[in-house]
Formats: sequence, structure tokens, C-alpha cells
Amino acid sequence: MAKDVKEKKFVYFFCGKKAEGTAKMKNLLGGKGANLAEMVNIGLPVPAGFTITTEVCTYFNEHGKKYPQELKRQVNEALKRTETEMGAKFGDKHNPLLVSVRSGARASMPGMMETVLNVGLNDTTREGLIKKTGNARFVYDSQRRLIQMYSDVVMEKAAGIEPAEGKGVRVQLERELHKMKESKGYMVDTELTADDLKKLIEIYKKKVQTVLGKPFPEDPMEQLWGAIGAVFQSWNGKRAIAYRRFEGIPNEWGTAVNVQSMVFGNMGDSSATGVAFTRNPATGENYFYGEWLPNAQGEDVVAGIRTPNPINEVGKNEHTIHLQSLETAMPKVYKALNKIQHNLEDHYKNMLDIEFTIQDGNLYMLQCRVGKRNGPAAVKMALDMYREKLITKEEAVLRVEPSQLDELLHPILDPAAESTTKPVAKGLPAGPGGATGKIVFTSEAAVEAAKKGLQVILVREETNPEDIEGMRAAIAILTARGGMTSHAALVARGWGKCCIVGAGGIKIQADKRTLTIGDTVLKEGDFISLNGSKGYIYSGEMPMIKAAEENPDFQAFMKLCDAVRTMKVRTNADTPDDAAKARAFGAEGIGLFRTEHMFYGKNAEEPLFILRKMIASKTEAERRKALDELFPYVKADIKGTMDAMDGYPVTIRTLDPPLHEFIPHSASGRKLLAESLGISGTEFDRRAEALDETNPMMGHRGVRLGITYPEITEMQVRAIFEATAELLKEGKKPFPEIMIPVTSSENELKHQFALIDKVHQEVCSRLKIKEIKHLVGTMIEIPRACLTADQIARTAQFFSFGTNDLTQMSFGFSRDDIGGFLPDYLEKKILPVDPFQVIDFEGVGELIKIAVQKGRSTRKELKIGICGEHGGEPASVEFCYQQGFNYVSCSPFRVPIARLAAAQAVVKAKALKPVKKVKPKKGKK
Ligand code: PEP
Ligand code: MG
Repeated sequence: MAKDVKEKKFVYFFCGKKAEGTAKMKNLLGGKGANLAEMVNIGLPVPAGFTITTEVCTYFNEHGKKYPQELKRQVNEALKRTETEMGAKFGDKHNPLLVSVRSGARASMPGMMETVLNVGLNDTTREGLIKKTGNARFVYDSQRRLIQMYSDVVMEKAAGIEPAEGKGVRVQLERELHKMKESKGYMVDTELTADDLKKLIEIYKKKVQTVLGKPFPEDPMEQLWGAIGAVFQSWNGKRAIAYRRFEGIPNEWGTAVNVQSMVFGNMGDSSATGVAFTRNPATGENYFYGEWLPNAQGEDVVAGIRTPNPINEVGKNEHTIHLQSLETAMPKVYKALNKIQHNLEDHYKNMLDIEFTIQDGNLYMLQCRVGKRNGPAAVKMALDMYREKLITKEEAVLRVEPSQLDELLHPILDPAAESTTKPVAKGLPAGPGGATGKIVFTSEAAVEAAKKGLQVILVREETNPEDIEGMRAAIAILTARGGMTSHAALVARGWGKCCIVGAGGIKIQADKRTLTIGDTVLKEGDFISLNGSKGYIYSGEMPMIKAAEENPDFQAFMKLCDAVRTMKVRTNADTPDDAAKARAFGAEGIGLFRTEHMFYGKNAEEPLFILRKMIASKTEAERRKALDELFPYVKADIKGTMDAMDGYPVTIRTLDPPLHEFIPHSASGRKLLAESLGISGTEFDRRAEALDETNPMMGHRGVRLGITYPEITEMQVRAIFEATAELLKEGKKPFPEIMIPVTSSENELKHQFALIDKVHQEVCSRLKIKEIKHLVGTMIEIPRACLTADQIARTAQFFSFGTNDLTQMSFGFSRDDIGGFLPDYLEKKILPVDPFQVIDFEGVGELIKIAVQKGRSTRKELKIGICGEHGGEPASVEFCYQQGFNYVSCSPFRVPIARLAAAQAVVKAKALKPVKKVKPKKGKK
């Protein structure tokens, strides 16, 4: 390398007063590395160490598992600095330094990648450590943990060995541990003596040799590089890949590796380890919340091997009331920790998830990151922090994922049924809402059942990252072991899924596929019900109801969103009921009333029969007769819906679907229709056949119907104008917007507009009123309409993008048949996402941009909205905002999501303005 070329930096050191990284460097250092650096920078006690960047991971994976040349030197240098800082030496037989080697990607992937602890321990260094600590038992325990973890993670998994069920090295070593305990008559691991553990180490080493065919490495440097390589490799482990797919995390990001001096929570009774949150992540309540275990290493808390104790008195509940809190066991340390969590929250201005270890009475911070929270907690925290002036309104709006709002509207077990049913067992309430479903015991069974459309609850002793697909497929998760920070709880909370953990009263015999609770034995396929908000488990199926929409936090948060957003949110609704529901969710009008829907719903038999008569009519006279019969139904429906949306605009679309869709298939249905038209069955069949089309979605539908049969358009607009006139007379404020679908040219519109004008004048003069205020516009759902939008806007007073059809027409993918090949397209990454869910920004999005630009070049104030399914999808809502839309319209239940997404779009478009002065938090314990 030439002298003047600066060596690329791959290793960032953190310790003492100043780290080389900061919290802002997540992309390079991963979340864990960046936050470790930040904690050092704000003066918290962090054991010294260094982070190897995510770039090395990418290099490693792209270069056949080789490292960049400079890495070795940089690691050696950082290790030296760590040694100096900690006053110990890696591999030294008198004063050895031990390190942990952990993964840490940009986005948190709980438990999906590997960790190796106690690296540097061998038969020589252990003697030095025993002398140094005077605690032989702890040292031997640490060494046997290293062998167990390392042989599994580095020697087996990273070597690509896939052992049969029960044959993996970790399981085999665990068996040896149990054997030893059994032979001694011990109940728990802590009863193992130093001598026992020393013997166990020898047994472990032999076992490693027989299972894996090579000795356990004694060389500390070999251990270190082995662990580093294994962590990098775990980025491409099966479960990490599966998790990334679900969470949409790009494969290219890579993980960083953090090498950090070990501190020990398992050095005796004055040592401990714990995981905590600066606020309760399940409810959002503002108190320090967490779990700890005396005399244990970090993995023990998260893995759910022992049920942990509550960190303080305020966090105790009926399940943990009898357990000792850190607050009472180690009051001084607790006080220091509580101060740190306050500082951290004030610094990060967010709820944090922290990991700490107490080594012989000394507190060390091992990790902090923004804590995962469920929907209700996210909303409460955002609101509280805004009220505490910790964050701005704009920041508050960004704190809730649009999908999390769903959880507030989460279904729950019917409280009436709950009040009369006794729970058969209790556990910790780890995920919100309720669920009722059939029991499955394995992840595979959950996936299979979900494929069949069954609602299943995954019941496990404890979950591990290998269960991820099953957890996803199940509607809820129940575990017998583990705490609120266990894997199951973390993952379920992240997804907002109903979940109960640590239900000690249940006994699972996975091999027999049974679940025993007291005297009750439940089998796979039997029903159970969970109340994930309280931790109650019921045997059998229970009725469910939708969650309360009146939640005051939810309402207040939505108000905050409304104060930020500028784009309107309407709903797609075709009945007064749906309109009222959507209005309660905050809809500001209807963006799409599909006239044809009144022929599908309940009480539709009569109007449908008349519609069919109209369709099967041959002459205009016949058709007009049927339309006259249909008129009162159409008018009543429109009037009821406009009434429910009083004061807001209601966009009513003229008839759109191909008429053949409505022809009955049954012989009896056809006979009845033929009779009512006074024609023979053969004649009816002939007429029906004539309507048949090879490609109906591109056939005689939309505006084309109105051009062929103007009387259909006339009847509908007459109904609209008369309904509006009646509502006006009743003192209401209706505002109809008449919308023509499937338009491809201005001439089509001109034709329909002339008709609408004619009917408008006719109704006004008949009712002796001057005018009925309304707009007439069009859907934009054909590429040609986008390209000629400047012409179309000469006539149309508004555009509404029908992105369902626009996507269909742009890709040439039938919206009804895409299911046949979409999974392949997604799997093979031909498409990043389903374009019928998220707007295809590159293609369809470009057409939309052209249409907006051309439309507004003709009519500057042209009102523009969207009413395709994309109108309630957050990324698409943001796109609409960016293009200057006036509104989005979506189904009633997605209205709150669209309101939030619209507010977030505003904030994302502007740079965040921080609050100038931060007042300390009040009211925290
Ligand atoms: C559309 O095409 O996006 C649309 C809203 O119309 P429909 O789904 O009724 O075809
Ligand atoms: Mg359409």
C-alpha cells in the first residue's frame, strides 16, 4: 500500500471517556456498537472493547469468508488498548482478560444471530483467573459455558454441520450436565460445586472430540477469530435470513461484531445480571421496568431458562409479588442504575431497552437500544413524552408505526364470557389482545395449519429463534417458561401478537402432543383461548370482540396526527353503516362509493333481481322500465350514505363492473328472470351469452356502459341529484362528487358530462331549485388516461387514481390471477413487494406523476385523490403526499393508519426540529 493512502478503518474502539464511534454511526457499527460508543461518550460505565464494522461482514461474505488485509492489525491494536484499559491481558496465564463476541446489526434482530461469551478461557488462563478472583467455582462454570457455546456456535453451526434432532453438540453437552446433576441429586445448576464443574469440563472436552471429531481449541487467539467468523457467518444463518425476510431488512446490511471485555454476573451473590426498559414496554406506563437474576450471566435472563425477578417494587405483579427485587436486594446499585436509566432516556429522548451486569457489587452497562414496544404502549409513550416536552409533536407522530395502530383496535376475548369463565392457568402478559384457536406444538404444525387457513396457537416450553416461522403463522403464542424479555415475548411484542409467557402451571409433553393443566389434558387440535393483556389462559373456544375504539390515548394521538397532516383522509364505503364506522375512525368524506356494491350485500335480493332484469333487457324501453324500478333503491342507498357523511364530500362512482358478472348461474334463477321479462328460457340464455366476454376486465365496463346505455348513467345521476336535493331540504350539507370510471379519453367524459348536465337541469327545474352543488370528475386507472391527463382535465373537475386497475393495466397482470405467479415473483426477487398492495413507484408511480403534472397544467386547482387499495398503505400514502394529492381514500379500518401515515409523510418531508429546552422527567419512580 502506498504510504499516502490512508488505511480504511474497520475497527472502532470504545472505552474510558471517549469512544471512536457515536450513536449516529449505526450503519457502520450496528445498533449495539453505536450505542456502546454513545454510552461511553456520556460517561456511563461500559466495559472496554471494540466494534468490527458491518463493512467487514459484507467483505467476508463476498470474498469466500476472508477478511480485509488490514483487519488483523487493527484488531490486535484495539485488543491491546482494551487490555490497557482493563488492566488485564488476553491469554495471559496470571492476569487474563476474557471477552465476549457479539453480533449487532443496524436493526435489532433479537436472538437471530450468535454470541460467544468467555472467549480467552482455557486450562491455563483459568488458573490465573481463579487466583485473581478467588472464586474457582465461577471460573470453572465460565469455562464450561464457553465450551458449550463455542462448540455449538463456532465448531458446529458455523462449520455448516446440521446434526439430526437431539444430536447437536449443545444438546449432548446439556445432557452431560443433567446426568451430573442427577447423579449428585441436585435440583438446580447452582448446586454444582467447583469440583463438579471441573470434572464436567473434562467430560465436555471429550464429548466435543467425539461428536465433532476435533479438540476444543485452547489457543485464545484461535478462539477469538473463530468466534468473530462465526458471528459474521450467522448473518447468513437460516433463522436470520427468515427474520430479515419478515421484517424487510436488506441482506446487504451485514452485521457488526462487538468484542468486549467480559464482566461477570455469575461471580456469587453480590453479582447479577438484568434486562430493563426505561418505561413499561407492554403498557407504556412511565416507570422503570425490568427483570434481573442474581448470580447469573446475561443469556440466562433472555433465554428464559430461569424465570427472573422483578427489578423493583413498583414493577411487581401478582405473579412476581413473592420474588425479591433488585431495589431491595442491592439498594445502592439499584439507585445508580435508576439514575443511569433516567440519564439515558433524557439523552436519547426515547424508551430504551438496557442490559446490565453487576460484578461483585459494581454496575456495568452492556447495551442500550431503543426498546421494542407494542402498539398501545407506543401510542401512550409518544403522547406522554410529548406532554413531558421531551419530544415534539412531529417526533411523537413518528414514534408509532402505522401497523401498530392496528393493535389498539385489536380483537379481544369477549369480557362477558371471560367474567363467567375461570382461567385454567396464568402466565405473564407479553402480547396484547386476545386469541382463540387450536393448539399446535411445533412451528411446522403452525405453518401447515396456517396454510390451510386454520387459526392456531403455538404452545411451546419456550421459543427459540428457530420457531420464528411458526410464531408468525400462529395467531398467538403461549410458553411455559421465560419472562417478559424472553425470546417469545420480544418477538411477539415486536409484531403486536397476542402472547403469554412463563405460564408455570402448564405442562407440555411435546412428544405426546399434549398439554396438561391441573387435571385437564388438552391435545393438539383442541381449542384454547388467551387473554394476552392479562396473561389468562382458558380451555376451549371463546367468543371474541373488537377492541374498544374509544381508547382515550388512541383518540388523543390521532388528534396529534391530524394537527400535523395536511392531506385529507377519506374512506371507501358504500353503505350508511360503513360510512358511520369510517366517520368514527376519522374519515373526512367518501372517496369511493361503488354503486354496484348495493347489489351484493345484505337485503340485496330485490334490487339485484331488478338489476338483472335491466341487464337482460334487449330494447331501450325494456331497460328504462327496469331502471325506473331500480331507481328508488339506488336513491335510498345514496341518500343514507350521504346522510351518514353529512358535511363531507361523497364521491359516487357510476356503474363499473362488466354486466355479465351479474347474470345468475343457476337454472332456477335464470328461469325466474325470463318469466319476469316475459321471454323464454332459450331467449334469456341467448341474451346472457351475448353479454359474455373473453376478457371482461378490459371489456364492456366502466364508462363504456354509460356510453352504450346512457339511460343507466341518467338513472344514477338522477338518484344522486334527487337524494342531494332532499337532504338539502332537510337542512343537511351533502356534497356529491360524481365519478366516471375506466376513462381512457376526454371524449368519453364529454359524452357523460353532457348527460349529467342535462339531468342536473331537469331535476333542478322539476324541484324548482337553482342548482345542486356538485363536482364531476373521473377515475384515472388506465395508462392512456395518465398520458392524456392534460386533455382529460379540461373536462374533469377532479381525478381519483384507481390504482387497482392502473396497476393491472400497467403491468398487464390480471388483478384476479396474479396469485398464481406472485409467490414466485417475490421469492425470486423479480418484484420487491406485491404491487397491488404497495404502489409500484418506478412504473405506476411514474404514470401517476405524469398524470398529476399534466392534469394540473390544465387545471391548476385540480382536486386529486386515490381510491385504490393502496390508499391505506403507509408507503403509498407517503408517495401520494409527495405528489401533492388532496386526499387518500381507504377502507374504514385503515382510516387511522392512513391518518398517521399522512402525518408521518409531512414530518419526513421536513427536517425534524428538536425541542430547545428539555425539562427533566417528572413522576418517575
Ligand atoms: C381501482 O381500480 O383502483 C378502483 C378503486 O376500482 P375497482 O377496484 O372498483 O376496480
Ligand atoms: Mg377500478
